[in-house]
Amino acid sequence: MGCFTTLDDSPMLRCKLQEMESSVDGLKDRCKLLTKASRKYRDGLLNMHQSEKEFASALEEVCMDNDEDHVAMGSFVTVLNQLATYHHTLHTQIEELLFEPLQRWQVFLSEVKDLRRKLDKSGSEYDEQRSRYLSMKKKTKPEVLEKQAAELQSARRDFDEARFAVAQRLAAVEVRKKYEFLDALASSMEAHMHFFRRGLDLFSGLEPKIQSALEVVEGHRAEEKHEEELLESLVAVQRDNAAARTLASSECASPSACGPLQFTGQAARKASEIESVVRASLEGGGQHVSIIKQGYLYKRSSNMRGGWKRRFFILDSLGTLCYYRNKDAHSAASTVNLLFSTVKPNAEDPSLRCCFRIVSSSKTYTLQAENETEVTQWMEALQAVIAVLINNSTAEQLRALTADPPPGMNHHRGRHRRNLSVDSDISVQSEGDFAMVERVASRDRHLLRTVESLEESTPPNAALCSANCFAFRRYLHDASGGGQQPNRKDAGAYPEVQTPAPPVGAGDEASLLEVLRRVPGNSACADCGAADPDWASLSFGVTLCIECSGVHRQMGVHISKVRSLTLDVRVWEPSVVQMFQQLGNQFVNSVLEEKAPRRTNDQEDTWLWSADSDGEDEVADSAIMSRDTLADAGGLRATCKPSAGDGLAEKEKFAVAKYIDRRFTAPCAVRPEELRETLWEAVASGDLQGTLRLILKGGDVNEWHAHIGSVRLMSEALEVAEGLGIPVPETVTERGAMELSLLHLAAKVGATANVELLLQRGAAIDAPDMYGRTPLHYAILFQQAEAAKLLIRKGADASLKDMSHCNALDTAVTMGRVTDEELFLMLSGCQGTGGQALC
Ligand SMILES: [Zn+2]
Repeated sequence: MGCFTTLDDSPMLRCKLQEMESSVDGLKDRCKLLTKASRKYRDGLLNMHQSEKEFASALEEVCMDNDEDHVAMGSFVTVLNQLATYHHTLHTQIEELLFEPLQRWQVFLSEVKDLRRKLDKSGSEYDEQRSRYLSMKKKTKPEVLEKQAAELQSARRDFDEARFAVAQRLAAVEVRKKYEFLDALASSMEAHMHFFRRGLDLFSGLEPKIQSALEVVEGHRAEEKHEEELLESLVAVQRDNAAARTLASSECASPSACGPLQFTGQAARKASEIESVVRASLEGGGQHVSIIKQGYLYKRSSNMRGGWKRRFFILDSLGTLCYYRNKDAHSAASTVNLLFSTVKPNAEDPSLRCCFRIVSSSKTYTLQAENETEVTQWMEALQAVIAVLINNSTAEQLRALTADPPPGMNHHRGRHRRNLSVDSDISVQSEGDFAMVERVASRDRHLLRTVESLEESTPPNAALCSANCFAFRRYLHDASGGGQQPNRKDAGAYPEVQTPAPPVGAGDEASLLEVLRRVPGNSACADCGAADPDWASLSFGVTLCIECSGVHRQMGVHISKVRSLTLDVRVWEPSVVQMFQQLGNQFVNSVLEEKAPRRTNDQEDTWLWSADSDGEDEVADSAIMSRDTLADAGGLRATCKPSAGDGLAEKEKFAVAKYIDRRFTAPCAVRPEELRETLWEAVASGDLQGTLRLILKGGDVNEWHAHIGSVRLMSEALEVAEGLGIPVPETVTERGAMELSLLHLAAKVGATANVELLLQRGAAIDAPDMYGRTPLHYAILFQQAEAAKLLIRKGADASLKDMSHCNALDTAVTMGRVTDEELFLMLSGCQGTGGQALC
């Protein structure tokens, strides 16, 4: 059982001890090795803890900046911190359970050596004492002998004790070597097991988050791929565009071969595409807005210094043109109001290349592109958009427009823009005006319908349209080149286009402007006096500045039909031009502003506008007009004729007073009961001014006339028809006997300007007399070919039959003298269509 049966000193015991000691040496070496390794291991765990801590805190710091990933990353940080704590615990346990016991064990084993040395020492001491004692003689004094015997006794006792100690330690080692290692290792393994168990719990909780994070990663990966593909296609498109640009510029290298503003067939198709895109966006209420064109342009600063700045312009399908500065793409962009703008080629300085201008009511933007192709594209896009905007401008949009600061105020956009919030006073004012407009609208609903049908209908075929164009060009040629001013006083000798002339070329627009501005008063806006107006009201025959044209448009198409002299080319038929030539701002204002109070000196402008800074330069505070001042000014001058620099609110008030309320129109000179006959006489004598004056003073263009004049005319018509073999109809319409309209009379007289005026004022185009004969019938019967063509172009229904079952064409054929091929073509063209307006 035990290691020793006896501890008596003997060679056998010594041998046994020797044996056991050498086995302890081996044990000690192994223990030393293990202790060293466990120290390293323990330190490694502490390092692990520290590096996990550091990593977690670094991760936490990084996540702070990225909100999106923070949720997943945040839980990772928590777990890492927790794991670091677990590692620290494990480290402590390894220290206590493995390293320290091993260290103690090693010390325990090392002590065997010391005990052995003690044993050897006490053994020699014992040997020495014994020899000394035995070497004593018999005659030695008993006290000395006794002392020596005591010392020998003590040495022997020490030797025995040392031997026992060694034996005990060796026996202890022999027992403890069986469990010391095992205990340390098993305990540390158990600590490990706990560590991993807690770790598993920790990561089990994290697992869903890891999964979802991986899904997010997968999603982002897919996105990345998609983005890459998108970008690749974008790059491809850009490369194509760049190649196309290079090609185009090389094609346009020779300026004689390709002018800067050559509009190709392809470009024209593009313009119509743009128009349909813009229309779709506007009709969709701005739900789908796409970019029509964007890119960098050089923009001339509108201040006195006039530097050029590179800006990024975006034209979108809502017709908004805005531009950004490079530095702050996120800040609000500056917006160019396109609604009342025109686009013109070239800069004011003609020596500059690749320039164009956007001229709006309040300012002019001079822009420069990098090449002529870009200029062309920008101008096409802008013109297409403006065309749609003008046609689409609804009351709502115009109302929104009036909510903008009045044009003068636009000079102060930029730094002070936010201070100058929408002028509520003006808005309220506009609301009031609109209510008034609405009232007028309901009164004149029928008139509106007539007007709109005239305006909106489209030509039935291209041949007729081109015929119209040709006629217009001939007229322009005659009017500007030939200088034959129509003589309106000479009744019966109305200017008609008879002499064929070569078509007028590219100068059409300039010629039209020239012709119309020559008319007295037309060189200044009829309402505010602004110079060089290039808009016009067809309803009144006056020319307007762009701003007043906006005011007119706001009043509604039933009050004033506004068209551009430069943009709405199709509108300017010869008859319209004639009408304008015979009326003019001077004459029309003499009627509509007869009683208008003039502004006195003390009411002159008292504020100053500074140069437009465009938000890029400082504006003097003194130049800003407060809202109150504006409201006061509006109230003060409500009934005064505004000047060009006045605010929109004033111009609105004045226009409503002038055109809707007719507050400045003097009462009619003739008695109301005589008005009808006087109007008839004016039309009969071809007095266009007289006609309009009476209409403006209360004459009704749709009133039926049954007086001596109308009776004579109808008898004349019957006579002509009978002479042609057309029998007097046996039945009559519901129309009152011998009643005729003014349009019947104008058609008979053949005065195209008069026909035009009556139609513009809302005359019913197809109203039949008692025999079912329309104004078109009358034009044919009295051989007024131009008047007939005009009526057809304006939408007269040539298929309508009179009570003798003759339509206009039948009547013309019966006469057997259809010499005007164009008229014949138009009459037959209308048969199938039921009479559609051409323009
Ligand atoms: Zn004006």
